[in-house]
Amino acid sequence: MSNPTGKVRALEQKVQDLVQVVEREEGLVAGSLYAARTRCGRQACKCMASDYRHVNRCLSFTQQGKSRTRTIPAAMAEDIQAKTGAYRHAKTIRRLIARIAAELLKDIDSIIARAAHDGQRKMLATLLEARKGKK
Ligand SMILES: [Zn+2]
Repeated sequence: MSNPTGKVRALEQKVQDLVQVVEREEGLVAGSLYAARTRCGRQACKCMASDYRHVNRCLSFTQQGKSRTRTIPAAMAEDIQAKTGAYRHAKTIRRLIARIAAELLKDIDSIIARAAHDGQRKMLATLLEARKGKK
C-alpha cells in the first residue's frame, strides 16, 4: 500500500530513536566484549599448574582497518557493555531507516510514473482534438 507521508513520519520517528540511543550513551563503541580465560605466565601461579584460568574481559574492535583487542578493567565493563549494545542498536535502527527509505522511493517512483502516464494520455488526447479542429 502506497503511503509516502506515513513513511516520512516513520522515518522521522526512527531518526529520533537513533538520536536518543546515541545521546543516551555519550559515545558508542563499535566492538564486542567477551570473557577470555588465560594463563598469566607467572611460574608460581596456580594457572600454570592446574586447569585454573584467569578471566579477563576483553574488547575486540577495529582501528584503521586493523583488528585490535584490549583488556577491560572490571570497573569499566558495564559502561562499555552499554556502549557496544547502543552501537548495535543504532545499526539496527539504521537498517530499518534504509528499508523504509527504499519503500518511500518506490512510492515516489510510482506517484511520478502514474502522473506522467496520465499527463501523456491527456496531452495526446488534446493534440488529437486540436488536429480534428483544424480539418
Ligand atoms: Zn596466573
